Amino acid sequence: MDINSPLDKVFKILTPQNCALKKLGLETVEDLLFYFPTRYGNVAQIKNIKTLEKGDTALVYGKISQIKIRKGWKSKIPMAEARLSDESGTIKIVWLHQPYIAKMIQPETFVKIEGKISERKGDLAFVNPEIEKVKKVPIAVGNSLFGKSENGFAYPIYRETRGVTSRWIFHSIQKILKGGVLDTLEDSIPTRILEKYHLPSLRTALIWIHAPKRKEDSLSARKRFAFEEVFYIQLQKQKERKLYAEYSAFKIRKTKKELGEFTARFSFSLTSAQEKAIDKILEDFSKHTPMSRLLEGDVGSGKTAVAATVAYAIVTTSPPKQDYGNLQVAYMAPTEILAQQHFESFIEYFKHLPIQIGLITGSGCKKFPSKVNSEKATDISRSQLLKWVENGEIPILVGTHALIQKTVEFRNLAFVVIDEQHRFGTKQRKNLRHKQDVVLPHLLSMTATPIPRTLALTVYGDLDITLLDEMPSGRKPVITEIVLPTKRNTAYEVIKKELSAGRQAYVICPRIDEPDPTKELALNVKSVKEEARRLKKEVFPKNEIGILHGKMLKKEKEDVMQEFKNGEIDILVATSVIEVGVNVPDATVIIIEGAERFGLAQLHQLRGRVIRSTHQSYCFVFADTKSESSLERLQSMVKAKNGFELAEFDLAQRGSGDLYGKKQWGLTDLGMEALRNIKMVEAAREEATQLIDSDSALIDYPLLKKNIEEKREKIHFE
Ligand code: ADP
Ligand code: MG
Repeated sequence: MDINSPLDKVFKILTPQNCALKKLGLETVEDLLFYFPTRYGNVAQIKNIKTLEKGDTALVYGKISQIKIRKGWKSKIPMAEARLSDESGTIKIVWLHQPYIAKMIQPETFVKIEGKISERKGDLAFVNPEIEKVKKVPIAVGNSLFGKSENGFAYPIYRETRGVTSRWIFHSIQKILKGGVLDTLEDSIPTRILEKYHLPSLRTALIWIHAPKRKEDSLSARKRFAFEEVFYIQLQKQKERKLYAEYSAFKIRKTKKELGEFTARFSFSLTSAQEKAIDKILEDFSKHTPMSRLLEGDVGSGKTAVAATVAYAIVTTSPPKQDYGNLQVAYMAPTEILAQQHFESFIEYFKHLPIQIGLITGSGCKKFPSKVNSEKATDISRSQLLKWVENGEIPILVGTHALIQKTVEFRNLAFVVIDEQHRFGTKQRKNLRHKQDVVLPHLLSMTATPIPRTLALTVYGDLDITLLDEMPSGRKPVITEIVLPTKRNTAYEVIKKELSAGRQAYVICPRIDEPDPTKELALNVKSVKEEARRLKKEVFPKNEIGILHGKMLKKEKEDVMQEFKNGEIDILVATSVIEVGVNVPDATVIIIEGAERFGLAQLHQLRGRVIRSTHQSYCFVFADTKSESSLERLQSMVKAKNGFELAEFDLAQRGSGDLYGKKQWGLTDLGMEALRNIKMVEAAREEATQLIDSDSALIDYPLLKKNIEEKREKIHFE
């Protein structure tokens, strides 16, 4: 047996089982060895049959009888059936699709059964439980998790799928552990680091995670692998950071005072968070290496104003060794409508200055000011725009992805702003930045997605982070209410009142979880259409109702958003995909249906749609749940002061939360666990930074280098 051996060379595996293994991503011995248990069976949970209740997940020891194969009455599903008895009573067991189990177990055998209790035809039954033969039924049941279980340790439970049971995985891994493969494994983490943080070696950790003798051992093992995951990501990120540090950048010498001429024209005064962010950025600008900074702030916290202010510092600076001309700024937004919006804000900010502003999107180009009217923007040809950008006459270019194209060349690009940066891939972001070979522009990435600090430190390890954790003063907080089904009409009344005052509303339909993505999309579209129809018929017959969902073409979506923005649509019924960052000042109400199905962070994002208004705005969180913990979770929407607080709350509450985690960031459950431990994340970052500082190519750490490269393929590090 070799670490790279395919599983079907090492174990006897039937074809359906092989498919199931593939589905779990398990193809080689190595894959299996690094397939960690999701939890450990708890011996203290051993129950008597008499005490079982529907819905329990229970562990019972007993004797098997009446075991037989049978076919479903109507369904024709092949199954094994048996009865299990202990001294307190008996219960039926059914194994759907697993008739072979009947052949494996002789009547009168002692077994351990673990699984879910359901009701079948009026009687309680175990359905598809785990079964394991045991020598005898334990008499005294241990009372601690890793107490006196029959094997001497608690047994791991693995995520399974139809065709592969947790038990199969367990036994196979135990074989691998005994097969000597462990001795061939090399630890990628330097011993010095393991010792410093009291982490077990790779070999020990693998044993401890799959066959722990004590609870603490399994926890240490998990800690090690969690550290490893974050450490790898950090190494990758620190490598990138170091790479950027080797480029040069335009050095901008502007003082805060000089910017005062620009900010004095604002109709508001900057918040102190905005002031601090501007100071930080100016400090970065004054260095000769390029800035890489992330500006994270709730919707409405005024990121654009910060970006415009520092852009002013750039465009009022001449290129080196020149006393004429301007350095250039590129500002990239994820959609045409956002790009258009930023173009308009920039015109507002810069119109008093001799600074031309360009807009480039897939559907056309514009320039401000127009030759004939110095107050207005005008459509121009793409080639004309590109010429002026290339010769430096247009210092500020706002755009969509169209900015990245090769044909767009700058004369002196000194500063790149990426709005809603999570909407772009790493590659797109890089492409924009690498428009010049020698001098790299300073980068300001902006996002309104509040994430926990540990996650930010990890996934944005290559960036310096600045928070805008303060809302402009005078902003009225959104009135947020959790609305139970019986109270829906009160919310509709508020909407009616708002609509008659000329305002607008969003209605967000619930997320429908469905494993098949195309089906999920179809269902979501259906719920949007149905809800729009219902609202029109039953609640708002006099109003214009529009819809927005993921199946519409990009252009269609943007048209609807534009109509909503123009006030032609009163109520927009949408899935949760409504455009990020779009500013519709008259939209003052948002209803979120089925709110319990959304993560807090997403709910907060949605609420952000109505934060822009100067009018009082409302967020009605419709909950169809009676679960106290769900309601409590939703209550934190009312309580949390800002997105960051909410993000921390979400992380703490959801455990290895799917929401933040895997889908979006490519982290494993263990990686998510690490995020709840700020000390661990900081340690991983610290060690990675030191290591990269001393050996950026990881020449002395070939195994680390190899692992990071492999992991990079798997995790999208974003
Ligand atoms: P976001 O962070 O969501 O991108 P914007 O920069 O678009 O926020 O700002 C939202 C609105 O708030 C804009 O109309 C902007 O002019 C205004 N704004 C920005 N900073 C302040 C401030 N310090 N005080 C009052 N209003 C502000
Ligand atoms: Mg914005």
